[in-house]
Amino acid sequence: MEQLLSEYDVIIIGSGIAGLYTALKLNSDKSILVLSKDHIKNSNTNLAQGGIAVTFNEDDFESHINDTLKTGYYYNDEDRLRMMVEEGGKSINTLIDWGVNFDSNNDGTLLLTKEGGHSLRRIIHYKDTTGEEIIRGMLNTVATRNNITLVSHVFAVDLIVRDEGVVGIKVAQDRCIKPIYANQVVIATGGIGELYKNTTNASIATGDGIAMAVRSGVNVKDMEFVQFHPTALNAPGHSHFLISEAVRGEGGILRNESGHAFMDGYHPLKDLAPRSVVSKAIFEESKKQGNDKIYLDITHLAEEYIKNRFPNIYNECLKRGIDIVNEWIPIIPVQHYMMGGIETDAIGRTNLEGLYACGEVACTGVHGANRMASNSLLEGAVFAFRVAEDINASHRKIKLYKTDLSYIKDENNIEIHAYINQLQEIMSDYVFIFRNKSNLIKALKLVDDLSDILPEKCTSQEGYELRNMVLVAKLIIKAAIDRDDTLGSHIIEGEY
Ligand SMILES: Cc1cc2nc3c(=O)[nH]c(=O)nc-3n(C[C@H](O)[C@H](O)[C@H](O)COP(=O)(O)OP(=O)(O)OC[C@H]3O[C@@H](n4cnc5c(N)ncnc54)[C@H](O)[C@@H]3O)c2cc1C
Repeated sequence: MEQLLSEYDVIIIGSGIAGLYTALKLNSDKSILVLSKDHIKNSNTNLAQGGIAVTFNEDDFESHINDTLKTGYYYNDEDRLRMMVEEGGKSINTLIDWGVNFDSNNDGTLLLTKEGGHSLRRIIHYKDTTGEEIIRGMLNTVATRNNITLVSHVFAVDLIVRDEGVVGIKVAQDRCIKPIYANQVVIATGGIGELYKNTTNASIATGDGIAMAVRSGVNVKDMEFVQFHPTALNAPGHSHFLISEAVRGEGGILRNESGHAFMDGYHPLKDLAPRSVVSKAIFEESKKQGNDKIYLDITHLAEEYIKNRFPNIYNECLKRGIDIVNEWIPIIPVQHYMMGGIETDAIGRTNLEGLYACGEVACTGVHGANRMASNSLLEGAVFAFRVAEDINASHRKIKLYKTDLSYIKDENNIEIHAYINQLQEIMSDYVFIFRNKSNLIKALKLVDDLSDILPEKCTSQEGYELRNMVLVAKLIIKAAIDRDDTLGSHIIEGEY
């Protein structure tokens, strides 16, 4: 197992696109620690299918910006969105320079696809395993850098904060808690999907970064905006597997039980309407027909095309007994993405000196109240680039602190799994796509009760995660209670 030092120039918590991108853009004279609490590839990035929305041609900037604003219900921070779109080409070319492959046409130009909310084809991709390819390419490049130490299975518990700001983090490893100091700390811990029973997210998505930031007085923003993806595979026990929006981008059609292509009646963009609209439409149709039998149909596409363009989706469905060449795919909306998170400025800085956040854990404001498809990987890359540039230019040097170890006593006897299930039930029953105030108040009371019975100290990794999930659940519910009207992904029951 990799030995951790007690001090680095920069600590990055997270080995998804945001964490690895930041590490690779930092100057090579800096000692950098990148942490992953599970195996390195267990991340939302590694699961990404559809691709990256990127606009290389200046003439198309306005269209990318307008589509994102429309999808985000004009709640977006327009200046930062503009910046993301304008700097996107540069950030993605850097990924390509690091050896990440994207599908191309015969003439070598990048092959572009379309997804919900996009009025143009602007999404680059690598088949339907774009995230895996990004991580592969970046990890290969990290392996060539002596200044980057990448360590898996180390859990960041909390930030260490002194008068001068953040000075490091506490990690749990080998049954002890150890402080590690650094001039800058970057939180890139990803999403919150594990708060829900059904999610497309990786199992690491327990909101740790948000929770540790809040415990240190860092501001969070827009916590009520949780995105639910309309098309996860609806197969017993497997409702978390995503059927990428690119499937609809390439002609997939949503059908109800009787085969009617119902999106015509809901939005001018039909099957490519924004995610919140499609999720709402699916619920409406389910309500009308009295069951959740809703399907995505691509059987009109050629067999060879399907197998070549969506090999991962084809194989995963086949494993579950569905041959998507000949059968409609049963789908259901599930939790997918967190628009809210740690509030940052335009270069990823938080309100705590020395602390940065980027990727899904951060709230930069670019997505507004509902993220447009394939803008998340773009945001991760562009803001990680900015974070790294700011750290490279910084002269911050923390004081020297003494390093102490403390040992964790075993707490395996507490019923962590039962508590996690309870929390997921509450969030899925009362804080899902459609919300109402009395359910939200009920949810808050239930989560408060749950947190009251949790042991004072949860000292296994799952215990820490549970504590974090409970805190993040409260933040989401309180923010949802405070927003009276429907906006984007926050939908008040009866208001649609
Ligand atoms: C199935 C799926 C498909 C998607 N498809 C697309 C797509 O096509 N296009 C798009 O733009 N977006 C897509 N998204 C969204 C996008 O993939 C994510 O928002 C993005 O990859 C998040 O990257 P990240 O670096 O912020 O976090 P992640 O990639 O999730 O990485 C988080 C890292 O933090 C580490 N970590 C977390 N907590 C701790 C802790 N306490 N201590 C130590 N380490 C910790 C984890 O181990 C992990 O390494 C998809 C998401 C999913 C789930």
